Amino acid sequence: MFKNLINGEWVDGPRASRNINPSDTRDLVGEYAQADVAQTRAAIAAARAAFGAWSLATPQRRFDVLDAAGAEILARRAELGDLLAREEGKTLPEAIGEVVRAGNIFKFFAGEALRVGGEVIPSVRPGVGVEVTREPVGVVGLITPWNFPIAIPAWKIAPALAFGNSVVLKPADLVPGSAWQLADILKRAGLPDGVFNLVMGRGSEVGAELLENRQVDAISFTGSVATGQRVAAACVARGAKFQLEMGGKNPFVVLDDADLDVAVAAAVNSGFFSTGQRCTASSRLIVTEGIHDRFVAAMVDRMTSLRVDDARQAGTDIGPVVDERQLAQDLEYIAIARAEGATLAVGGEALPASSAGAPGFYLTPALFTGTSPAMRINQEEVFGPVVSVIKAKDYDEALALANDTPFGLATGIATTSLKHATHFKRHAQAGMVMVNLPTAGVDYHVPFGGRKASSHGPREQGKYAAEFYTTVKTAYTQA
Ligand code: NAP
Repeated sequence: MFKNLINGEWVDGPRASRNINPSDTRDLVGEYAQADVAQTRAAIAAARAAFGAWSLATPQRRFDVLDAAGAEILARRAELGDLLAREEGKTLPEAIGEVVRAGNIFKFFAGEALRVGGEVIPSVRPGVGVEVTREPVGVVGLITPWNFPIAIPAWKIAPALAFGNSVVLKPADLVPGSAWQLADILKRAGLPDGVFNLVMGRGSEVGAELLENRQVDAISFTGSVATGQRVAAACVARGAKFQLEMGGKNPFVVLDDADLDVAVAAAVNSGFFSTGQRCTASSRLIVTEGIHDRFVAAMVDRMTSLRVDDARQAGTDIGPVVDERQLAQDLEYIAIARAEGATLAVGGEALPASSAGAPGFYLTPALFTGTSPAMRINQEEVFGPVVSVIKAKDYDEALALANDTPFGLATGIATTSLKHATHFKRHAQAGMVMVNLPTAGVDYHVPFGGRKASSHGPREQGKYAAEFYTTVKTAYTQA
């Protein structure tokens, strides 16, 4: 039984969850203690008590803990990647890549603990000095989704600790295993008791307490728009700082002048790798008339060769969907798209088992053609390997269609025209723009986040993370 970490102690819960491997539902990944509201309050109280000393810890002390944690994550990449693939269903190379990203994030923020600084600004008054400094926010509640079980907790925990905050993490109920490993690594890296607390359990219970509890100064949330709206309402009501990273309906534009191989590689990666379960996945392919038929034919050809199989099987391109409920949602959207008149060009078939006969939640990647922008498949986030193609007359129409969505997380274009690439980078309404690259591949040390309904508040990752995890103080001194 994997337990919660509260004030430096491993604590059992009143309930437990049994987490299974979506590649093989006979495989029990682990049993995890689930915290209740009283335990969540105890974790928050521990974080509050530990905050003072940690906020005053030297930058060198914070560097040492984060650097040690990063080093251990990187050294154990194969083992942690295997766990991640088992609990979430990413292919092993993708899972190991995510673990490496998490390790690098800890290393990056170890350095940021040393670099964070302020500035001295001349006063308009004679003899007065003005200093602007950054201080930690306090107790930070972190609520994370299931699709990046280690990278997203890492990109919240590492800056929170680097800048002197104490933390209570509630990971997604579906994937507590990687988060538990992070808690264990941080404890052994020498973090003082209470500075980092792990409470596994239900969003409606543990998550809701984090939102309501006045001892929690700030909430960083990644997940669906529906839950994000709850987070916003609760934080606004009690004046807590908050940051939201939510869904996407990301477009990828393919122009007549695109290199076909580049366009297909980027579209397949963005749409289907990680089983399409990425907030940055391109689920709308907006393709201009002159290349449309060649592009669709090349996509169908490439997709037919993709191997859908056990996430840990060598040669697998696409692992299973995360669970039965998500699979049902994907299949429902496939049925809706057909009913709305879209043509299923390839895929969309649920497979009951892996090539070795393991029962799991397998779905072949689906491509719809002949879709119109108003169809639900083009408006709502499916969050699975389901992608649609919209035909556009020319670049101007493609850009307009790309921007015609309530979301604004990531967007991309395949083109060999510098003029169109430059115009697209300037006029795409999204937080991240990719030219001749998949929308879903991002670096670990630069800002991550979106616009419109996808995001709210400061960016995550990179030096911009200081905007959320610190608060600015302006001090005036009469010499
Ligand atoms: P979700 O259902 O909104 O859950 C996210 C987290 O919120 C989970 O830990 C969940 O706990 C918790 N939660 C649920 N109800 C809550 C409540 N009433 N109060 C407080 N917390 C609550 O999202 P998901 O299905 O895990 O993740 C998929 C979504 O995340 C997609 O929309 C995807 O686009 C988005 N996402 C966005 C980004 C980004 O950076 N923009 C990155 C990754 C994913 P339980 O697990 O216990 O329900």
